[in-house]
Amino acid sequence: MAFMTASESTAPGIRLRPEIAALPPYRQGRPAPDDGFKLSSNENPHDPLPGVVEAVAAAASTINRYPDATALALRERLAARFGVTADEVIVGAGSVSLIAQFVLAAAGPGDEVVYSWRSFEAYPGLVTVAGATSVQVPNRPDHGHDLDAMADAITDRTRVVIVCSPNNPTGVIVTADEFEAFMARVPADRLVLLDEAYIEFVTDDEAVDGSTLLGRHPNLVLLRTFSKAYGLAGLRVGYAIGPVAILDAARATAIPLGVTAASSAGALASLEAAAEAELLERVSVIAERRDRLRAGLIAQGWPIPQAQGNFVWLPTGEHTVHVADRLFEASVVARAFPPSGIRISVGEEASVEILLGILGELVPTSQEGHPK
Ligand SMILES: *Cc1c(COP(=O)(O)O)cnc(C)c1O
Repeated sequence: MAFMTASESTAPGIRLRPEIAALPPYRQGRPAPDDGFKLSSNENPHDPLPGVVEAVAAAASTINRYPDATALALRERLAARFGVTADEVIVGAGSVSLIAQFVLAAAGPGDEVVYSWRSFEAYPGLVTVAGATSVQVPNRPDHGHDLDAMADAITDRTRVVIVCSPNNPTGVIVTADEFEAFMARVPADRLVLLDEAYIEFVTDDEAVDGSTLLGRHPNLVLLRTFSKAYGLAGLRVGYAIGPVAILDAARATAIPLGVTAASSAGALASLEAAAEAELLERVSVIAERRDRLRAGLIAQGWPIPQAQGNFVWLPTGEHTVHVADRLFEASVVARAFPPSGIRISVGEEASVEILLGILGELVPTSQEGHPK
């Protein structure tokens, strides 16, 4: 069959885009055993608030109808909070969908998208799907973004730069000063996406906060999500704020009606004053737990970078699979990124002692050695 190409092993006879056929299929990671801890997806370990569940359940009575296509009620609520107009807010089925929309709107074949690496595992695939080319700029030795090198990597072909703070999976923030200096170097006609999926967990005062920069840069869009701090990962709702013209372009690349009425209702209920106060109290509990876990690991000798999200990064290098397997044997599912390291979400309180117990036996003694 002469027409078959590289894609034949996945779909014999079907002519797929070769770069799509070559993408690794999405793997969600192993499910945790019943009595174990699922610390692989940076989810919120707390059950949803009863009021939020009720709002979602109430929305179920309208599912014979399509949702409001632009989720106006939620956009208005967010707009009021951030002091912008509703047209400067876009909501999507998780902020991952929105990142895809922005990349599709700005970059196609022959164009480049610059981001740090290692960063969010979804970025490479989104860029490839748009037909564009990823330009991955290595993180600094401290696992933070090398913004100078990222600015240097911008060429005539660059259409989008993605900045992730705190960076998933390494946990390191971009500071406000670093970001300011970076924006001064980026040409004003190139889109900068500031991915702030974990900003609610940040306790370092020096961190960039995109909400303080609104209206200051014609090319800046910030992205946030209800999935992590607000504990709505399963509902799929995130949002972006930025200049109307850029958001209009992203609206054009959306698959219509991605945000359901239930998603909007759950997000709106989470923004009610009492609900949000409780959710943010939980966030501070998780941030405190994170700091304790990190301090404990550092005391054992682990070189853990700054951790400002709801996760810690273990730079396990070539030992990544071994350490992840040992964790799994101890009923902890973490996210392994061989050959770089392991991201462990901050979950239930009981997981901290278990993690410190097992990882205490696996402390790297040198560049080479992790005890078996
Ligand atoms: C989790 C995450 C998102 C958003 O996820 P959604 O559930 O799609 O809102 C975006 N960026 C990063 C870096 C993340 O880790």
